[in-house]
Amino acid sequence: MIDFHCHLDLYPDPRRVAGDCQSRKVYVLSVTNTPSAWAGTAALVREEARIRTALGLHPQIAHERKGELKLFERLIQETPYVGEIGLDGSPEFRGHGSDQVTAFTRILEVCASAGGRVLSIHSRRAAKPVLDLLAKCQDAGTPILHWFSGTFRELSRAVGLGCWFSVGPAMLAGDKGRALVAKMPRDRVLTETDGPFVQVDGKPAMPWDSVRAEAGLAEVWGEPLEEVQRRLVGNLRVIGMLAKQGGHWTTLGG
Ligand code: MN
Repeated sequence: MIDFHCHLDLYPDPRRVAGDCQSRKVYVLSVTNTPSAWAGTAALVREEARIRTALGLHPQIAHERKGELKLFERLIQETPYVGEIGLDGSPEFRGHGSDQVTAFTRILEVCASAGGRVLSIHSRRAAKPVLDLLAKCQDAGTPILHWFSGTFRELSRAVGLGCWFSVGPAMLAGDKGRALVAKMPRDRVLTETDGPFVQVDGKPAMPWDSVRAEAGLAEVWGEPLEEVQRRLVGNLRVIGMLAKQGGHWTTLGG
């Protein structure tokens, strides 16, 4: 199982969740919302071989934390994984749009000058400006659009730009999400939960709830679950290799 976008540090007992992920053999990309959260979050999982910690600056708090961009620049050498980053065009965050663009642009530049990174990207109500910035900074690395909710036209533009996609149970529960997933290249899809923010059965999603996304993919793709799981593990290995090329780290897997 793979949860390629989860906020491990925001569970009440992150150490325990990390240990459970290890025993359940869940591969996790543990994203962070601020550069100052990265070191502590990475330290939570030093022994868990299947968990990687991404360096992030969430667009919803970019205006409060833009002072941490300097720290981001220093930490970029520590990891080939970056996220959660991006833009959020929802009404409650739109007012800070210029800070969001400044932070996201700077982050993409920092990733490019570091040789490229694997990027977990938020693009809620902002697919177009996110794609515009990715198009301008293609050396930033491999973008993975998390919970993509743009239009079909934006999806095909994203595919053309080399984007990957991480899809979760909530996305696969709705007709629009399923229709988008059906049009994503199967060799560029990973599963995620976005836990603990997303609820599954009235409880915060756990990384292993990504099994529900696997089941959703099996339906959308018309493939047996085992085939879907094989495909996802293959995709994860490719991302691990891309991460290695972009950075200096070990691949996911094993
Ligand atoms: Mn998230």
